[in-house]
Parts: sequence; structure tokens; C-alpha cells
Amino acid sequence: MIIHLNPNVSESKAHDHAKSTESAIFHDGQRFVLVTPSKLKELPASLASDTEAHWPMDSDIQLASKSYRSETRTIKLGDVSIGGSSNNTMVAAGPCSVESEEQIRQSASLMTELGIKGLRGGCYKPRTSPYSFQGLGLEGLKLLSKMREENGFVIVSEVRDATHVDDVIEHADVIQIGAKSMYDHGILKACAKTKKPILIKRGFGTTLQEFVQAAEFVLSGGNPNVMLCERGIRTFETKTRFTLDLCGVAWLKEHTNLPIILDPSHALGYRYGIEDLSNACVAMGIDGLLVEVHPDPSVAKSDAAQQLYHDQFRDLLKAIKPVAQAVGRTIV
Ligand code: PEP
Ligand code: MN
Repeated sequence: MIIHLNPNVSESKAHDHAKSTESAIFHDGQRFVLVTPSKLKELPASLASDTEAHWPMDSDIQLASKSYRSETRTIKLGDVSIGGSSNNTMVAAGPCSVESEEQIRQSASLMTELGIKGLRGGCYKPRTSPYSFQGLGLEGLKLLSKMREENGFVIVSEVRDATHVDDVIEHADVIQIGAKSMYDHGILKACAKTKKPILIKRGFGTTLQEFVQAAEFVLSGGNPNVMLCERGIRTFETKTRFTLDLCGVAWLKEHTNLPIILDPSHALGYRYGIEDLSNACVAMGIDGLLVEVHPDPSVAKSDAAQQLYHDQFRDLLKAIKPVAQAVGRTIV
């Protein structure tokens, strides 16, 4: 159950109520909000006089649920917003990993040429092998910050574990929590303490319930700015890297109030179909699209097979614009 306490309830009283109901507690700028376990169906009598409104819930998908807020949350990304009544679909693109100043500068100039505001690049890579490139770390984050200073980008960069989460929060504008890291409570709790937008990627063996519950950790810690990213789940199929779960996207749109971002690059794992998949994603009326693009994918240090050449990304952008328009969306 979500409980909005009256705005004049003191901090200590609010904490007493949170303790007696075993609730998570945060202040939403107007009032203290308590989130009890969802099995609680009746407002306890001891809270009645201090309560402004309450919402009994079916499951522990609570703050992210449409039954709490019927409109998708608005999230500000630089000077544009997604969600709410905006109808914007934000594109964030760039290499899988930041590899060098020269490389990220080439990516930045492509995005500037195309009017793309979101520049992505990982600096802490969650690799499957310890012998693969692990990312440039802080040096990479500083390169991304430099690109933002020079071009005014919204920087999207990922956190691999809790040891460097504060560095990513300091340098990036959107904190990406990777598919392999989305269960890490150290990361989720640190991301709850900032107000920067958090992009949570779905683990490839993660149910929709578990996925949204990861978002609940951030929301119930007091950060309302959470986006969900579907990037493919593991199925019996091996010809493609993963299977992009568009049914799951339909479910998330219907049941949650969080903006939805789609990442076709990691789902397919090969560059040949990324434009087709992007068209399909945009046609679903999503809030954002994350695409991997590299100045020379043949020498990319991670995810080489799926990163687009610059010309392929130019073509993709041309293709998705009319698709977006057809479903009442604008690519930003
Ligand atoms: C990435 O965005 O480069 C990445 C590693 O994504 P995921 O966590 O979805 O595998
Ligand atoms: Mn990648």
C-alpha cells in the first residue's frame, strides 16, 4: 500500500508510522510517502488522521504502477523531456565502450551532425570474460564529460558495480544499470540517493515482475526519475544473441508509469537488422531508443558485431523519423 501522509506530519512522526507499518519512506517534495508491503490491504487505524490518501496494491509493483499514477512519468533529459504528455522519443547513441579520445570525438561529431542529444558510451564494462577489454574507467568518464562540455550532450553511461557508482553519478547525466547489474542493491540504493535519471536494463533472465521491482528500489529510496530498458532476454533461440521481448514492452506500457527505452543492438547482437528492429520499436510508441554506433566497428573493443557504421546510423535515423510521426511521436 502506498500512503501519502499529510504534508504537515513531522519527520519523526512519519518515521514512527514507517516503523509501525514496516514501510519504505521518502519525501516526494510535498509530503512523506510510505510504501508498505503489498499484502497490507486496509489502512491501519493509527495512521488514519495523518493520512492524505492511500492506494492498496495488488503486488510489490507499487510506485511504478499505473494504478498509483495513470500517466507515464515525465523525465527531463537535458533540455528535452520524455514521458508525460511529451510524445518524444529520445535517441541516445554511441559506442558500446569509450575507447579513446579520438574515437569518442568521432562519435560526438556524428551525433552533432545528426542533431542527436544523447551520447552513450560505457566506461565500466560488464564483460563475460576477464581477458576482454574492461573499459577505461574514470578516464573514460572524463572524456564523456569533455564531450558534454563541448557539445551539450546528455551523457548515458553504465555502472557495473557499486565501487564506482558515485563516479558515474558525478560524470554522467543518465546512469545506466546494466543487465548483469540490475540486482545489485548497492547500485540500486546509491541510485536512489541522487535525482539523476536512472536507466535500468532488464537482465536477460529477469521476469517483468523482478525488472519492475528493481525500479521500486530506486523509486522507494526517493528518486522518481527511473526509466526501464528492454534489451533482449535469453530464449531457446541461438541464431540471434537474445530475443527482444516486445510483448513485455506492451505489458510494461499497460501496467507501469515508467518511460520505456528499447535497445535493439544488444537484443539482436548483429548490425544487419538493427534498422528494421528500430522501426518496430519506434512503432510501439516508446520513449527512447538506445543504439550502438562506432566509427569503425571492425576494431571495436566490445560488441563489435552489433555496432553500426556511421552511414548505417544515418540511414536508421532517416527511417525511424516517419515511423515516429506515423504513431504521433517526435524523435528528439
Ligand atoms: C551496453 O549497453 O553496452 C551493455 C553492456 O548493455 P547490457 O547491460 O544490456 O548488456
Ligand atoms: Mn554493448
